Amino acid sequence: MPGVKVSVLLPAAGSGERIGRGPKAFLEVGGKTLLDWALEGFAWADERVVALPPERSLETPGIKTVLGGQTRQQSVFNLVQAATGEIVLVHDVARPFVVRAAVERLLEAVRTSGAATLAVPVPDTLVQEASGEYGAVIPREHHRLVQTPQGFRRELLWKAHLKARAEGQEFTDDAQLVRWLGHPVALVEGDRRMFKITYPEDLLLAEGLARVWNS
Ligand code: C5P
Repeated sequence: MPGVKVSVLLPAAGSGERIGRGPKAFLEVGGKTLLDWALEGFAWADERVVALPPERSLETPGIKTVLGGQTRQQSVFNLVQAATGEIVLVHDVARPFVVRAAVERLLEAVRTSGAATLAVPVPDTLVQEASGEYGAVIPREHHRLVQTPQGFRRELLWKAHLKARAEGQEFTDDAQLVRWLGHPVALVEGDRRMFKITYPEDLLLAEGLARVWNS
């Protein structure tokens, strides 16, 4: 977006409990940490800010860092506080593969509506679990899997974070916070390559994708 400063905020302070190999942001895929993948994916941004776990530091020149919090929301609070861009994109470093075309679609939506997130359709049949049995089927065409980055006018996201903190509300992503504040959040077509590394087997998929990423 010409003329509008964009800050990319990277919460990287999670403990990576479900993978169980230390802070997830520092796991390596294709010879680079997940954090380095994300930083490179947003190399074009006017500003990049990273929330780090207390025991870690970052030597990369030109990158701002802040201390992460106890929860993702607290880490993002610290990031938004440090950001200076008119538009902020919040991106989980657990999604190392940044697809530029999807990010461009997102930025366009943020420019017109102030708040947007990437999301993808649900590929599988979606069903309620009922005491270990197959319960009611949920119409998958009406549901989406939410990805990051999520983009907002910085003032709007800051207002939502301040209110959530004051009222003791915790959410798993920033789109929920902004919607809770009463502002609509546009859904923008994401990209399945921007999947989140959560379980050990996701690392195998990521290694495969890393091999063909630059070709
Ligand atoms: O654990 P999960 O994959 O949902 O975390 C999403 C993102 O939030 C990750 O990039 C993780 O590093 C970050 N996070 C954080 N501070 C926390 C918890 C998670 O920055 N306290």
